[in-house]
Amino acid sequence: MATALYRVILHGSKTSSYTRFLCRRMMSVGSVVSEDAISRLRDSGLLKTQGLINGDWIDAYDGKTFEVQNPATGSVLANVACMGNRETADAISSASKTFSSWSKLTAGERSKYLRKWYDLLIDHKEDLAILMTLEQGKPLKEALGEISYGASFIEFFAEESKRIYGDIISPTIADRRLFVLRQPIGVVGAITPWNFPLAMITRKVGPALASGCTVVVKPSEFTPLTALAASELALQAGIPAGAFNVVMGNASEIGDSMLESPQVKKITFTGSTAVGKKLMAGSANTVKKVSLELGGNAPCIVFDDAEIDIAVKGSLAAKFRNSGQTCVCANRILVQEGIYEKFANAFIKAVQDLKVGNGLMEGISQGPLINENSVQKAERLVNDALSKGAKVMLGGKRHNLGMTFYEPTVLCNVDNDMLISREEVFGPVAPLLSFKTEEDAIRIANDTSAGLAAYIFTTSMPRSWRVSEALEYGMVGINEGIISTEVAPFGGVKQSGLGREGSRYGLDEYLEMKYICLGNIKDA
Ligand code: NAP
Repeated sequence: MATALYRVILHGSKTSSYTRFLCRRMMSVGSVVSEDAISRLRDSGLLKTQGLINGDWIDAYDGKTFEVQNPATGSVLANVACMGNRETADAISSASKTFSSWSKLTAGERSKYLRKWYDLLIDHKEDLAILMTLEQGKPLKEALGEISYGASFIEFFAEESKRIYGDIISPTIADRRLFVLRQPIGVVGAITPWNFPLAMITRKVGPALASGCTVVVKPSEFTPLTALAASELALQAGIPAGAFNVVMGNASEIGDSMLESPQVKKITFTGSTAVGKKLMAGSANTVKKVSLELGGNAPCIVFDDAEIDIAVKGSLAAKFRNSGQTCVCANRILVQEGIYEKFANAFIKAVQDLKVGNGLMEGISQGPLINENSVQKAERLVNDALSKGAKVMLGGKRHNLGMTFYEPTVLCNVDNDMLISREEVFGPVAPLLSFKTEEDAIRIANDTSAGLAAYIFTTSMPRSWRVSEALEYGMVGINEGIISTEVAPFGGVKQSGLGREGSRYGLDEYLEMKYICLGNIKDA
């Protein structure tokens, strides 16, 4: 297969000597890269298929690879090194060695590296977005948005690194002085999901590197190409070998190696609640600091007094972004009785206008789901709801485009006991539930073990405060469906996670406090 692809590239009309060189080089390390992926990039050097250990691009030690596919077409984009515990151990030891030098740089020095990385991410925005759409499926416009959003964490923490302050505490004994230092925690193991292939990495690596930690990242097997391209840019930015390592492949081996290593002082994870719980339990043995960004079950509450256009636009964005595959996607749309019909009609009309297709095509707003399991999950939850009395108002099945495309769907007559209200659907399915009073809305919204994001639509200021305070969630959007930004703390309560990412609070996750007591300062 490698030879066939090589021929396609070698004899294709777009062949350049650089592409031929690149292709030969990739063949020589046993990786297969499809012509489709290569031909779309301005800088084909960003297409990496090996892990990054101690500043070197490395194959899996046993030569194994895994396929990365385009979910819109099923074509194989690349074969990527399938790594496990041996490679992870080496990545950890390189991060551990580099920690002693990286942590001793001044904040200003580290900031310059991060700023350079940010500039390179922005300079290569188009290429990174193409890679992201190819491997993840999200529409190109959304992918471009994610590159800017993802890069913003690197810029923000480059600046924020200079504002890591300690403290001086009033002593309780006159000849003492008490200080608090804040120091980097050490080597960080970062495990990230496929739904935001860049931003979930930069939201962790930005504050980790800024505070003086070194990192081993494991991106999802579905989306390693964006992660590896961003890592190549980190190398080009001069971030020292070993400060930032990337391994991917056998998830449980890599995870276990991180958990077992006493050198890894912190695990930061974004992904499913089930895997998050395993990592939390596995961290106990070496008592690692853990931060977890896990699944959500966001309620989107539309009150009778809501501005209808704002409520429709906000709910649409909160539900259908990334084809419904975000942890903060509205999972339940709760609509008060008085506005239910008007809202439902306007909402269904807006959903009808969403265009489904390959994210690289103009005008597409809904790409494919990441894989067949995701489609089957949507089908299972929709079928359960229908069997318990829900009704399909729009969509409700696989899209006739085939692959993993699913029709943008609206269900009505949903109640909070149906599986679709208990589990994250993680797809383009909007269940509408009706409620009578504000108290009902709060009770239904809080009746879940998740507590990540919630949305409310109302024109009443007192109600917006009352309800926001009563919601058991880490984030609340009022009259707004997209609330994530690098300057605000992102994270959940209950089983949605521990800790916060982004904002100045995001640095705390990578810092330890050290109390220093200086005694006997009396005159000699
Ligand atoms: P996932 O299955 O938990 O995977 C997340 C990451 O964990 C991937 O890199 C995966 O590797 C890895 N992993 C799987 N099993 C592991 C193990 N035993 N040990 C160590 N690592 C392991 O979640 P996902 O399906 O990729 O992502 C969707 C979930 O993430 C949803 O629940 C969503 O709500 C949540 N999410 C939360 C946030 C947030 O900020 N709260 C943001 C985005 C997504 P492989 O992919 O290689 O198997």
